[in-house]
Amino acid sequence: MGLNLELEISLDDVRLMLRDRFEQGFTREIHTATCTGCERRYNATIDVSEIWLNHIGDLIVEGRCMNCQTPISKYLETSNHQSAYDQAMAIRELHIQVLKDYNARPAGG
Ligand SMILES: [Zn+2]
Repeated sequence: MGLNLELEISLDDVRLMLRDRFEQGFTREIHTATCTGCERRYNATIDVSEIWLNHIGDLIVEGRCMNCQTPISKYLETSNHQSAYDQAMAIRELHIQVLKDYNARPAGG
């Protein structure tokens, strides 16, 4: 299994990663997206459909603009906090090595 795969994770996984920074590091981020459809800058909200965890512990959130349905993806640099990075690696290991029930895709997919 390639080590640089992106892994689909759940909102619960994100909560586990960010803990007391969940509101700041995730909820706030999905409400401050930029949409090319309705041209909202930093105030579009993403209706999240998929969350991907990459091999360096950052998140790629994908979904659609709540306002105009244009597809939006946003890159969240969650790995710059050591605790979130450690938890991200634990989640990757758990899904890949133990549970084996994960969706993966090549980086940049
Ligand atoms: Zn929009």
